[in-house]
Order: sequence, then C-alpha cells, then structure tokens
Amino acid sequence: MKNKQMKKHNFYAGPSILPEYTIEKTIEGIKNFAGTGLSVLEVSHRSQEFVDVMKEAQQLFKELLDIPDDYSVLFLQGGASTQFAMVPFNLLNKKAAYLDTGAWSSKAIKEAKGFGETVVVASSKDKAYNYIPKNYQIPTDAEYFHITTNNTIAGTEIKEDIDSPVPLVADMSSDIFSRPVDVSKYVLIYGGAQKNLGPAGTTFVIIKNDILGNVDRHIPTMLNYQTHIDKGSMFNTPPVLAVFSALQTLKWLKKNGGVKAAQKRNIEKASILYDEIDRNKLFRAAVPDPADRSLMNITFVINEEFKEHEKAFLDFASQYGIVGIKGHRSVGGFRASTYNALPKESVEVLIKAMQDFEKKII
Ligand SMILES: *Cc1c(COP(=O)(O)O)cnc(C)c1O
Repeated sequence: MKNKQMKKHNFYAGPSILPEYTIEKTIEGIKNFAGTGLSVLEVSHRSQEFVDVMKEAQQLFKELLDIPDDYSVLFLQGGASTQFAMVPFNLLNKKAAYLDTGAWSSKAIKEAKGFGETVVVASSKDKAYNYIPKNYQIPTDAEYFHITTNNTIAGTEIKEDIDSPVPLVADMSSDIFSRPVDVSKYVLIYGGAQKNLGPAGTTFVIIKNDILGNVDRHIPTMLNYQTHIDKGSMFNTPPVLAVFSALQTLKWLKKNGGVKAAQKRNIEKASILYDEIDRNKLFRAAVPDPADRSLMNITFVINEEFKEHEKAFLDFASQYGIVGIKGHRSVGGFRASTYNALPKESVEVLIKAMQDFEKKII
C-alpha cells in the first residue's frame, strides 16, 4: 500500500467524478442516517426519514431546473438503457421521430422500432457522429420527437432547447444540471444519474403528467410511468442509497449557485481545454465545428504524424494524476469528461500535461 496517494484528476465519462461534499455526506449517511443511529442502507424506505429524502430530492430537482408544477420527477432503476424501451412502450402508438446523433441515440432508435414506425429524421453517422445534423424535418404526425442532448461518446452536444412541432423527449444522461433547461419545451427528460448527478443505481425521469394514456397496448406495472407518478416514485423499493447520494449533489449544486453558475464554470473549463487542443500541434478536436462541441465530454485525437505516441500520452498524463482520458473504443484518441464536479484545476493540470508532452515530442 502507498502511504500517501497522489491527487487524482478524474476525467471518467461515467460513473464519474462527484463533489467531495456528496462523498462525505454519503459516508455520514451510511454510518448514521438523519440521526437515527442506523445506516441509510438498513432503514425502511417507508420510514419518515427516507420519505423526506425522496421528497426533498424531487423538490430540489424541481427547484434547480425550474420545473413547472404539472411535471413529476421520478427516480427509477434500469438505467437510461431501460428508458430507451420505456419511452416508446408508454408513448409510441403509431409513429415516433428520432434524431440519430450517436451510439446512445441509435440504441434508443433500435428499441423504438419494436413498438411502431420509427422515423430517423437525420443522422450524423456518415461522419462518425462528429457533428449535430441541422435543417431536418420533423413529421408533424409523430407522437414525439426524441433527441440525445449530449453525446457522451462522440463529444457533441445540442446546447440549446430546440423547438419541436411535436412533443419533445430527451436523453440528458450526461448534461443534466450542466446548464439551465426550459423544461416546458419537453414532455419527458430522462437519464442515468451516474454522469452528473450521483452514483450509478438510479435513473431520473422528468415527465409531464398529462402525456400518458394514449397507447393501446398493455404496459406492465413497473414499466408504466403512471405507476410511479401516482406513487411519488415509491411504488416499490426505490434505490435508496443512490437517491440519498443524488440528493447530496443537488444540495451541493444549490450551495454553488445552481445551474446558471454551473454552466458558467462548464463553459470556462471547456473553452480553455478546447483552446489548448486547437493550439497544440499534437492534437486536434474530434468535433470540427465549435458550435457542436460538447461542454461535458471533450473528445480529441492525436494527429496522424504523431500516432505512434498515442499510448505514451496516456502513460505520460497518468504521471500527473490524470485518470480516465482514454477515448471510447469507437472514437479512439482521448476523452476528457468535464462534468459539474470536476474542478477547473484538473483541467489546468491536463492542459499542462499536453503542453509538456508537446515539448517532449516536438
Ligand atoms: C451513459 C449513457 C446512457 C446509458 O446509461 P445507462 O444508465 O448505463 O443505461 C444513455 N445515454 C447517454 C447519453 C449516456 O451518456
């Protein structure tokens, strides 16, 4: 065992860095939950103390994102991947429209096809998903239009809430709480918690209460959003620890100025890193158009002439305490995830490593 560990700079894409506050409060709750003398791991989810946790998490979720009153916030299980099926199960009667912006979008599309006509209005697959398609037509007879706002793997992002002529559904797994969202433009927003909110184990769903009841098929109880809306996300045992921990992140976010302040910090972090990628002779951004570049997952590759040094950069960066920058196997190169909890200091360390590596190679 090492006596003292070097400070780590955690760029993992998910599960990913959480605020120290979240980790500390979760440890406290595991030891002694709300003064009960019991661990949060061993207390009934029907206890007043846990009911209060669920209510406060839903309340803070609504407050931080300014969610209108006629929406519910749910904490489910099964990951965003279960939502790929649950959305069409509940909403797709005849026809749905999807925008294909990456690996996660295409998985969502694959699931929807099992439930009805699924129109892909546009796709950026032709260029390895390195841009966001523009000027597409959304069929006005679609029951909903599905987008993935942040493409965690390719590193592109739809940074503004789009206008849709039909109800809008979004996978916001990796950019929820990174910026203000006009929730009233969507009927449903979902995502796994493990990117910007909490530990793995819960999936958030923000859903407009009146959008259900329009499909003909039977929906199993647990896969029916109505079940969870009616029971305040407490129909069965919720993922107690994951919700408790997510609540701590929400409290941290509120203490730190909410989503507007988070957005400001995120823009700052991303812009200094993209500036270095654009400047450094070894690297180039995987996403050419700055307008499409993600503020959460910054993907970059090593230029052809330096390809032989690709692996060496990973080892080099690890000497600075940098963890988790190996790119997804489908894109290659590198990916630095700069979620809310990542301090600017970690980005500065990465920039320093890139500069030092450039001096070493060239
Ligand atoms: C990580 C991720 C998913 C998959 O989430 P799971 O909770 O692992 O099912 C889906 N969509 C996006 C955009 C993601 O980043």
